[in-house]
Amino acid sequence: MNQQIHTFFSQETALNEFLKLYEIQNIVKPLNSTQRGMKPKKDRICRFCAASNESSTFRNDAHLIPNFLGNKHLVSDFECDKCNMLFSTFENDFANWLGISRSIHGTIGKKGKSKYKSTDGVNANPNFTENSQDKYNVLLNSDKSFIEFDSETSKNTINYKKQPYIPINVYKSLLKIALSIIPETEAPNYIYTIKNLITSTKENILTQFAQFIHCTGLPIYQNEEKLACYLFSRKDITEKAPFHIFTIHYENIFISIPIPLHLGDCKNGLYNSGINFMFPPPIYLSPLTQDQPLQTKMTNLSSTEKNTNDYGYIEFQTPTINQDLMYYDPKTGKSGKADFKPEEIRGVLIVDANKKLTMEELQQLADKAVGKQSK
Ligand SMILES: [Zn+2]
Repeated sequence: MNQQIHTFFSQETALNEFLKLYEIQNIVKPLNSTQRGMKPKKDRICRFCAASNESSTFRNDAHLIPNFLGNKHLVSDFECDKCNMLFSTFENDFANWLGISRSIHGTIGKKGKSKYKSTDGVNANPNFTENSQDKYNVLLNSDKSFIEFDSETSKNTINYKKQPYIPINVYKSLLKIALSIIPETEAPNYIYTIKNLITSTKENILTQFAQFIHCTGLPIYQNEEKLACYLFSRKDITEKAPFHIFTIHYENIFISIPIPLHLGDCKNGLYNSGINFMFPPPIYLSPLTQDQPLQTKMTNLSSTEKNTNDYGYIEFQTPTINQDLMYYDPKTGKSGKADFKPEEIRGVLIVDANKKLTMEELQQLADKAVGKQSK
C-alpha cells in the first residue's frame, strides 16, 4: 500500500526500525457518508462463524470500527447479527476500559454525545451542540473534592474509578477490529484465532496473547486525525515475528497488538519459543508540527474476571495559578478575587486552549454547564 505515514520527530528512528520489518497493508478510517458497494445480503457469509444469510441474519449494521468511538458509516458485509451481538458485549467492556476519554474528546456515538459517570461520582458532561467544532467544552464535576494538586509541578490530577469491565473482552474487541480489516483472502489463515474469538471458555488460548497490549497515551491535544486503524504485514517470511500487527488510533491513544495464531506463523514454529514483538510508535497520515510527550506501556488484558477496581486519571497543568485569580459562583452570580483552593473545586470546565475567553464568556459557559448539570 502506497501511503505515507508520519510520527513525531522523536519517534522517527523507532518508526524506521519498525518499517524495516513491516509494511502497511491496510488503513481504515471512518467515512463521511453512507457506505456503498456492499454485498447483497443473500450472498453474505459471516467471517467469524461462517453463517450464511439462511443460517443467520445480516439485518444490523456491523460497524468495522466501533460506533462508540465515533465511526458512524463504516460497516462490513461479513458480520452476522449473532456475532454482532456477541461483539457488542465486548465493546461495552472496551468502552468501560477506556473510561472518561470519549466524553473529554466529545466523541459522538450511537447515543449522541458521550456522557460519563464514574463509579465514585466523577461526572463528565460534554457541553456543545453536536454539529459544532467546539468539542473541547466539557464539564467535569463531582459533589466532593476530586482534584489532587501538586504545588511543586502545578499539576492537577483527577482520579476516577472506572465502570467494571472484563479485560479479555477488551482484548477480543480489539482483535475483532483487527480481523475485520485484514483482506478477505487472508481470513482463512486465522481460523484458530477466529474460533477462539467467538468461543467463551475461561481457558482460552487468547489469554496468552492478551498480555501484550502496547498502549501509548499522549496529552489531550487537538489533531484532525481522531480515529484510524492500521494493518501492518511482515516483509520477510523468515523473520521470527507475527505476520500482522494491528494498531488503532483513537484521539490521544494508540493501541497495538499482534494478530495471533496466523497459520503460517504456527507452521514456522513462531510460537514454539520466545517471540519478539515489535510495535510502531504513534502514526499519523499527515506530518506533525510538534513533538508530544508520550507514555508507552504494556497492558495486560488477559484476565477473564470482571475488574471492578480500575482507576483512570486526567492530568492538567495550572500554569498561572499565582496570578490574579477570580472566582465566579454560577449559583449566586457573585464574583471577586479568590485564592486557589483545589480542595474546594467541584467542577472543571475544559475548553479549547487556543480560544481566548473573556470573563463574560466564561461566566456564560459556567452558567450553561451548571444549568445542564441540575437537570
Ligand atoms: Zn457470525
